[in-house]
Amino acid sequence: MPRIGRHRELKFALEDFWKGNIAESALVHTATKLKARNWTRQVEQGATILPSNDFSLYDHVLDTSAMVGAIPERYDWKGGPPGLTTYFAMARGTRGTAGKECHHACNPAYTGAGIPAQDMTKWFDTNYHYMVPEFTPGQPFRLSCLKAVNEYREARLLGYRTRPVLLGPVTFLKLGKSTDPIVSPLRNLDSLLLVYIDLLTRLSLEGADWIQIDEPCLITDLDDEARTALQTTYQAFARALPNLNIMLTTWFGGLGNNLDLATQLPVAGLHLDLVRAPEQLPEVIHRSRREQILSLGVIDGRNVWRADLEAILDQLEPVVKQKGAEHIQLAPSCSLLHVPLDISVETDLDSDIKSWLSFADQKIHELAVLATALARGRESVRGQLEAASLATRTRKTSDKIHCKTVQDRVNGIKSHMTKRKSPYAVRAPQQQKHLALPLFPTTTIGSFPQTGKVRQARSAHSKGILTTEDYELFLRKETERVVRWQEQTGLDVLVHGEFERNDMVQYFGEKLSGFAFTRHGWVQSYGSRCVRPPILYGDVSRPEPMTVKWWSCAQAVTSRPVKGMLTGPVTILNWSFVRDDMPRSTACRQLALALRDEVLDLEKAGARIIQIDEAALREGLPLRQTEWNAYLEWAVGCFHLTSSGVSDQTQIHTHMCYSEFNDIMEAIAAMDADVVSIEASRSGMDLLKTFRTYRYPNSIGPGVYDIHSPRIPGTDEIVARLAMARQYLHDRQLWVNPDCGLKTRAWDDIQPALLNMVAAARKLRISQNHEQRNVQSALST
Ligand code: GLN
Ligand code: ZN
Repeated sequence: MPRIGRHRELKFALEDFWKGNIAESALVHTATKLKARNWTRQVEQGATILPSNDFSLYDHVLDTSAMVGAIPERYDWKGGPPGLTTYFAMARGTRGTAGKECHHACNPAYTGAGIPAQDMTKWFDTNYHYMVPEFTPGQPFRLSCLKAVNEYREARLLGYRTRPVLLGPVTFLKLGKSTDPIVSPLRNLDSLLLVYIDLLTRLSLEGADWIQIDEPCLITDLDDEARTALQTTYQAFARALPNLNIMLTTWFGGLGNNLDLATQLPVAGLHLDLVRAPEQLPEVIHRSRREQILSLGVIDGRNVWRADLEAILDQLEPVVKQKGAEHIQLAPSCSLLHVPLDISVETDLDSDIKSWLSFADQKIHELAVLATALARGRESVRGQLEAASLATRTRKTSDKIHCKTVQDRVNGIKSHMTKRKSPYAVRAPQQQKHLALPLFPTTTIGSFPQTGKVRQARSAHSKGILTTEDYELFLRKETERVVRWQEQTGLDVLVHGEFERNDMVQYFGEKLSGFAFTRHGWVQSYGSRCVRPPILYGDVSRPEPMTVKWWSCAQAVTSRPVKGMLTGPVTILNWSFVRDDMPRSTACRQLALALRDEVLDLEKAGARIIQIDEAALREGLPLRQTEWNAYLEWAVGCFHLTSSGVSDQTQIHTHMCYSEFNDIMEAIAAMDADVVSIEASRSGMDLLKTFRTYRYPNSIGPGVYDIHSPRIPGTDEIVARLAMARQYLHDRQLWVNPDCGLKTRAWDDIQPALLNMVAAARKLRISQNHEQRNVQSALST
C-alpha cells in the first residue's frame, strides 16, 4: 500500500524530524497510525490477505540493507540495530559538524564535510527511487534489524494476521553495487541466505505461515549466475523451512524465458503480472505444480484507470475452473506504491473523469468484487459490474478525449521535422560565435530553492487570497533577483529559476489540454518527496505559450544568455498516468508537437539556448533488452520532433539524472542535443567510465555537485571531479553544472556550493591556459 498517507503525513513528520522539530517517538507514532490505517482500509475494502512490512520510513531497499547489516563503513555503524541516525545518514548523507543545520543527534564521527549518502536510482521503470545497496567483496551480513518481525507483531496486536513482505535476496543483491566492480554482488549470496533463513525462522515462530518474497528480477534478462542464485536460494529456503509457505512475486512484466525457471522453484505460490503480460498465464498454468497457488495480478498497479471487471471475469472464469478456486488468489499486478491512495477524496475533478479512475483503495475493492463474482456468481455483484462497464464505455466514446486536429497533425509528421538543419560540427561554431562563452562554461539545471515564501505565495494564489496580478509581481521579483544572484555568483549561462512551477511535469500538464489533476493524488518519488502525476486522458494540444513570459522576464534584466526551460515529451509522458486506449508512442508524439511549438515561440522571443529536460527518458526503457530499440527509436524521435525546428544558431540543451546511463549513451548521443547536463556526482562519477570506450560527440556537463545531500562540495573536490572528466572528454566539450535542479535545497546551501563550482571552473581555465602556453612554447623551441 502507499505509505505516505492521505495528507502526506509521513512526509511532514519526516521533515519535522530532520529539522529537529519533533522527537523520534512522534515520527514513530505517525508511522504506526499510517500502517494501522492501511490495514483497516484494506479490510474495509474487502481484502482477505493483508501484507505487513510493506511500510517504510524512507525506502524498502534501504530497509533491507539495514535488515541484513549491509551498512558501509563510512557510516561508522557499531553493530546492533541501526538507529535512525545511521538510517537517515545512509539515505541523505550528513552535513557534518562544520555545517550548522545538523539538529538531530549527529554521530560524533561526522565531522568536516559530512558523509555522502548512498547512491539513489530509479526502481525498475518507475519514478520511485531506491537507495542502492553497497557491498564489499566478502561483505559480512548479519541480521541487524527486526522491522519485519516487529511489523508482523504490530498488525497482530491490532487483530490482523498478515503476510510479511520481503525483498528477495537475489533481487536485493542485483540491485546493489559492489565496491570492487569485478566482484559480482551475487558472490555474497551464501552468507546473505543465512540471514534470510534466520529472519524467516523468526517470522515463522511468530506465527506467520505465509511470507511474500519479491523477486522482480525474474522478469528481466538473467544470466546463468543469477538463474543459479535463484535456484540456490529457494532450494535453501525449502530445506531450512519446509513448512513455511512462500508467495514468490514477479511484476512489471512477464516471465518470458525465465518461465521454466520460475515455475520450477520450490515455492508454494507464484504471483504473476497479468496486466503487462496476460499471455504468460496458460503456459504458467501448464508448467506449475498442481497444488501451487497462483496469485493473479489482474488489476493494474501502475495506472489509475478503473478496470473493466466483466472483461477480467471472462479471462478468470476458465482459469478458476481449470486450477480450482482454492489454488487462485487475486491481486493487483504489482505493489500499489505507484498509484495514489484514494480517489474518493478528490472533490474538484470533473465527474466523468473521476468516474473513470481507481486508486489504491478502489483497486482493493475491485479485487474484492471480482472475488465475490467468482465465488458466488456475477449476479451477486451485478450493480458493481455494470458501473464498471459503464465507466469503460463512456471513457471510450467521450468527446472530452478525442480531437481530430491533433490526430491529423500527428499523422502529418514529416521526416524533415525530426532532424536539425546541420550536423553538430557545423552548428557548434555558429553557436559559439553567437554566445561567446568561456571554456568550461558554468550553468545550473533550472530550478532555484522553492522556499516557504514561494510555496506560500503559490498556495495563497490558488486559494484566491493573492490576486493573479500580485502573484505575478511576486514571481517577477523572485525571478529578477535570482538573475542578479547568478550574475554575482559568476555563472555564465543563467536560468529564470522556475519559481512559477509547482513541479516540472505538473506545470506543463496544467497548461496543456488533455490532462486532469488531482488534489491529493500523491505518489512517493523518494524518501519524503512525493509527486502528483498528471492524468493524461485525452488528445494533447497547447492553447497558448507556456514559458515565454517567465523566460522573457529573466532575459530582460541581463545580457548573459538565459536558458529557455522546458520539460521534454518523454518525461511528461513517463511521469504522468497515461491513457491506455492508444500506444504510448502516439501520446508522446502529440506532446512533442505541442512542445515543438513552445520551442519555436521561445526562439522567436530571442532565446539563444533552450533546455529540454528528459530526466525520465531512461526509466521508460523496457525492462527487457530486446524491447529497448523500439522504445528508444520513438522516444528519441519525439525529442527530435520537439527540438529540431530551431535554427543552427540556437543551442539545444537537455538534462538527465538519477538513472543508469552507461548502457544508453549512444541513444543519448543520438538525441543530438548540443549540450547534455547529466547527473554524475551522486553516483561517484561512474558515468565517466563509458567515455573510456565511447567518444561522446557533442558537449556534456557531468554533474559536479550532488544536490540531494546537504553537504557542500569544496572547490578542490569539484576540480578533482572535473579532472576526472577531462581524462575522457575534450576541454571544448565540457560544461560545469550541478547534478540536478536546486529546488529542494536552501539558499544557504547553494550559495557556497555554487561559488565553489564557479571557482573550480575558473581554476581550470587558468591551468588550461598554462598548459596551452607550455605546449606553445614547447612547439616554438
Ligand atoms: N529543470 C528542472 C529543475 O531544475 C529539472 C529537474 C529534474 O531533472 N528532475 O528542477
Ligand atoms: Zn535532474
